[in-house]
Amino acid sequence: MFSSFRELVDLSLKTGQPLAEVVKEWEMLENGTDPEYLSEQSLKFVIQMIKTYKDKLNSDSVSLTGWTGFNTGLYNEYRNSNKSIFSSLISKSILASLATSESNACMGKIVACPTAGSSGVVPGVVVALHEEKGVDLKSLSESLIVAGAVGEFIRRKASLSGAIAGCQAEIGSACAMASALVVYALGGSPQIVENAASLSLKFLMGLVCDPVGGFVEVPCVKRNPAASVLAFVSAEMSMSGIKSLIPFDEITEAMGKVGRSLSEDLRETGKGGIAATKTARSLLNTFFNNKV
Ligand code: SF4
Repeated sequence: MFSSFRELVDLSLKTGQPLAEVVKEWEMLENGTDPEYLSEQSLKFVIQMIKTYKDKLNSDSVSLTGWTGFNTGLYNEYRNSNKSIFSSLISKSILASLATSESNACMGKIVACPTAGSSGVVPGVVVALHEEKGVDLKSLSESLIVAGAVGEFIRRKASLSGAIAGCQAEIGSACAMASALVVYALGGSPQIVENAASLSLKFLMGLVCDPVGGFVEVPCVKRNPAASVLAFVSAEMSMSGIKSLIPFDEITEAMGKVGRSLSEDLRETGKGGIAATKTARSLLNTFFNNKV
């Protein structure tokens, strides 16, 4: 029915229907999903995102390798001491994103949005908007539906998988979804939503997938908060009137082409990039030697 995100935007503008309502109708026509059910599910996801963040704040769990799990506590302490160089909104987004991605690395319950490796990006903005800007759960869940449409078009035109198109497809897509969510939650127009998603994808174009030892820990965990902050940068720039000269749908196609041109070493095999550094190999050797 719709072959591009722009068509959803155009329909919303033409009919005056909120973008989230257009997405719900599209989902109903394509998959028969009851719009009310979609809203309920989306609200459940938002609630789980907030819960995952809070649970990790109260947990000292560490990942199987011992490489991550403790950064949430470190950052929380730093933030509480008022040393952060950022506003409370941005530092909360770093904290919530770290907490979620570390929770994933520690086998906690997360919302894979759009994947487990990139699961901290969207919750970073969700928690920050809720706790620092007072955005209510209902608005966040409607905004998550819009973010879902952004992710769905990336899936169709490119990929959401690091193994297929590199980390740009996971963290980059999550950043695009998060920036769309921020703009929608703050009342931005459909064009601004699209623009923010476009900027995010451009910022992270070409990012490779290079997890050390294939574990979704290094560099994955720390990329999440960085992308969460970038989502706010895209939203802020877009809401100021700064435009992406290249439309979202074309950027998505370009991202897919870049992904397909990446060497296999840079697509989740743990053979290239950060995973191939001397220190990464040494960390891995130590881990396996301690296991036997
Ligand atoms: S580096 Fe690979 S495994 Fe890690 S978050 Fe990115 S795409 Fe996922």
